[in-house]
Amino acid sequence: MKGTLIQCEGVVLRYVNYGEADRIVSVLTASWGIKKGFARSARNSRKRFGPALEPFTQAMFHWRQGRGDLWTLQEADLITPRGGLRTDLDRLALAGYGVELVELLAAEAEDHQRIYELLCSYLDYLDGNGDPAVARLLFELRLVYLLGYIPHLLHCSECLKIFDNEPVRFDFRRGGSLCLECAGANDLEVGLGSIGSLARSLRISHQQFEGFKLGNTTLREAGMLLAQVLRQILPREPNSLKFLARLSARES
Ligand SMILES: [Zn+2]
Repeated sequence: MKGTLIQCEGVVLRYVNYGEADRIVSVLTASWGIKKGFARSARNSRKRFGPALEPFTQAMFHWRQGRGDLWTLQEADLITPRGGLRTDLDRLALAGYGVELVELLAAEAEDHQRIYELLCSYLDYLDGNGDPAVARLLFELRLVYLLGYIPHLLHCSECLKIFDNEPVRFDFRRGGSLCLECAGANDLEVGLGSIGSLARSLRISHQQFEGFKLGNTTLREAGMLLAQVLRQILPREPNSLKFLARLSARES
């Protein structure tokens, strides 16, 4: 029995080679989240798939629905290959990190379309020489938000007091920001300015990365805050995180 032929836009997360010439490709699709596609003779027939099966590539994929989870990829029409990512190690590492976060967390998503749009915009921004630190912060923040995990930011998670020019602590396990009276001794210290920047960034479309100016303090503090949130929600530490840490150690 031949399955139905359907098409859906997607971005390649990664692939594994299979047998002599075949390839199994993980694709984040706008409609169904992550889908695995079996691409027969992908390594021999460049004509059928071209560069469309490389990581970070966005394409219109033609699938033949199978009985199980693994569908067959029939063809792909290239939308954007994002070749710029392969010319810069920092951006390539961040692209890999974004893809890994999506792989680890996409199963929890209810809104595949917006996660898909977020990943595409993030990769486009990195591909177009965007600021790596801004890209990472906005991507982490929005992914957490789209998955429904956003912590309390501008008020205390315990007593609900709205912050007014005062020191703030953060503990995601207790809901997010905490005032000094409610905070424990080991909670993360975060400036209200950094928390305000995160809250403001969430009011802007998840697809917009251009035009953000974030200071070093905000990048550092908000980065630590998001790292704490991600440690709680990820099933394991992303492998790409170690590589990113090595890259930033090299720079400083
Ligand atoms: Zn409080």
